Amino acid sequence: MTGLSTQSVTSVHHWNKSLFSFKTTRNKSLRFENGHFVMLGMEVGDKPIMRAYSIASPNYDEELEFLSIKVQNGALTSKLQHIKVGDELLVSSKPTGTLVSDHLLDGRNLYLFSTGTGLAPFISIIQDPSVYDRFDKIILTHGVRYVSELTYQDLILKDLKNNELFGQSVKDKLIYYPTVTRENFHYQGRLTDLMRSGKIFTDIKQPLPNSEYDRFMICGSPSMLKETCCILEQMGFKESRQGIKAHYVIERAFVE
Ligand SMILES: Cc1cc2nc3c(=O)[nH]c(=O)nc-3n(C[C@H](O)[C@H](O)[C@H](O)COP(=O)(O)OP(=O)(O)OC[C@H]3O[C@@H](n4cnc5c(N)ncnc54)[C@H](O)[C@@H]3O)c2cc1C
Repeated sequence: MTGLSTQSVTSVHHWNKSLFSFKTTRNKSLRFENGHFVMLGMEVGDKPIMRAYSIASPNYDEELEFLSIKVQNGALTSKLQHIKVGDELLVSSKPTGTLVSDHLLDGRNLYLFSTGTGLAPFISIIQDPSVYDRFDKIILTHGVRYVSELTYQDLILKDLKNNELFGQSVKDKLIYYPTVTRENFHYQGRLTDLMRSGKIFTDIKQPLPNSEYDRFMICGSPSMLKETCCILEQMGFKESRQGIKAHYVIERAFVE
């Protein structure tokens, strides 16, 4: 099929019953910005089933990485969750999206607000050396229901700090704020509630967000997106549209 390439699975990691991640080979010609998504899928019967997937690996990586939900009756993920190393997947040749830091005005703090698999594009972005050059602090939040859904903790808390090129910037600038809603955890509650009450900003020792200095990238369910954008708009933040730089960005393909 035109616009699709066949890539091989190089590794698979199951985080729990509902989440897994996997890596594939990458066409050398595939170019993307950190935060972009591609269409990804597999042949089921004799036709491809394709779904949008954020790329979790940074754009300089030789392989592609994805974080996926397992929907038991899902047309794609009921099959995709059983992939093994060496299996073939289809990847579209034109990554795209609006969740990119280039659409943000310069600022002081970069907030990356995610829930569930919305973490995926931010795993790419926190491996982008240019965001550490541009911002004083990068605050990665991840809201989940259960502790086992806090994926990529080893990368965020340990491995990135040892990166030869930008490990020191990660140590100085990256703040990680995981929060859980249905189990006891150090930080608890929905991100939107923590924003409204201001608790999240107290916890990370930062002032309340100000559109003059602070920038936001948001990725989660359509309802989380709607609620978070509403809170930001009430605080005077404006969304980037048609590539015009502004105070916050979302993936517009997620908006219902
Ligand atoms: C721009 C964009 C980027 C995306 N990136 C990712 C990604 O990086 N990882 C990923 O797992 N999914 C991502 N999705 C969702 C993905 O496209 C599929 O919906 C998902 O893979 C399930 O496919 P399916 O055919 O098995 O089930 P579908 O028929 O597509 O979905 C069945 C139901 O499952 C639920 N569901 C679907 N996806 C999710 C999810 N991620 N988290 C919680 N519930 C969900 C919804 O209620 C949906 O109605 C993205 C979607 C968009 C629009």
